[in-house]
Amino acid sequence: MKDLLKRTWTEIDLDRLAANVDIIRERANGRRLMAIVKADAYGHGDGVIAPELCRLGISFFGVSNVEEALSLRRAGVSGEILILGVTPPELAPTLAEQQLSQAVFCTEYARSLDAAARAAGVRVKTHLKLDTGMGRIGFRTDDAAAAAEELSAVSRLSGLKVEGIFSHFSVADALDPDSEAYTAGQQERFDAIVLRLQKEGLPLSYIHLQNSAGIIRHPDPLCNLVRMGISMYGLSPSRDFDGLLPVKPLMEMKTAVAMVKEIPAGCSVSYGRTFISERPMRVATVPVGYADGYRRALSNRADMLLHGKRARVLGTVCMDQLMLDVSDIPGVKAGDVATVFGSSQDAVIPVEELASLSGTINYEIICGISRRVPRVYFRGGKPIETVDYLLP
Ligand SMILES: *Cc1c(COP(=O)(O)O)cnc(C)c1O
Repeated sequence: MKDLLKRTWTEIDLDRLAANVDIIRERANGRRLMAIVKADAYGHGDGVIAPELCRLGISFFGVSNVEEALSLRRAGVSGEILILGVTPPELAPTLAEQQLSQAVFCTEYARSLDAAARAAGVRVKTHLKLDTGMGRIGFRTDDAAAAAEELSAVSRLSGLKVEGIFSHFSVADALDPDSEAYTAGQQERFDAIVLRLQKEGLPLSYIHLQNSAGIIRHPDPLCNLVRMGISMYGLSPSRDFDGLLPVKPLMEMKTAVAMVKEIPAGCSVSYGRTFISERPMRVATVPVGYADGYRRALSNRADMLLHGKRARVLGTVCMDQLMLDVSDIPGVKAGDVATVFGSSQDAVIPVEELASLSGTINYEIICGISRRVPRVYFRGGKPIETVDYLLP
């Protein structure tokens, strides 16, 4: 294993990944699982997470773009890979050669992809993407008959091999009655079109609609595949869903104290002098900042854990460093490990705490941990592998 240079790093528990997948598999109730590993596996490192998922029996992956798909192939992932977003049509030969499936979301795009595929003498595997209410990419579905007609025309394009159909929820993570009704409407529009296409004999091997929130709250009897994202990483799709599925977070983020100093009253800390001490204090500097993904909005607001106790961020978060109040935590010294999020002894700082203090969601915090932060993977409580993007 590569040595960890103990500046700032994340620890990722692969045993928890296995446990989470088991929990979701049970909830999916016989449907196949697609693991969503876009955005470097939500910041967890797709080069390790995807092969680990293969070992756990997952053979279908979802990514956002062709680069991510190729990165999975390079990591040795041989299963099905669906690209959920657009790929330039001229890459049709790459899609075919690498056996990648491409979302097809409007007739214009389908025709371009088909033309490029036929010009190269290949066929591209595709899933039809419906817009049932997300308002993002997808065939419009207001008129089921018209949509079914458009979709069956696309399925006859000889450069494309339609294997699946899917859509995406926009408010499945909210449990108020309006949102639940909207989600039910999306599902109805989806089902109506799938049933029409099935009646016409279109071979749809993969029918999928559920994201994490959908898996937990909106199962669809027509679907035979679900797309697990945030829940696989052990986090909740929203605060409404806290505790609805007993998954546990895989990731913790840590840093090591660079220096501890005593300051008198009236001393300012960090850029802009947004913090001025009112009494003598002990201040620890830690080498983590917004360039690591620790958001500047957390200045003067968030805590880290040292020796199982909370230490408040003092002043503005810098690009590469920030200061903590350790006045009430005895014995803190250079080299001590601080938990940025995760647990230390009995104390916990959930990702969601940092998300709400900085006005965002857990997804954005974990995806925002930058590539200069090494990922250390654990199994059986022991580190087994370190990925350092800067020192490959
Ligand atoms: C990201 C994404 C998912 C996963 O969503 P989670 O809420 O993380 O489970 C599923 N489907 C599509 C189309 C996505 O873009």
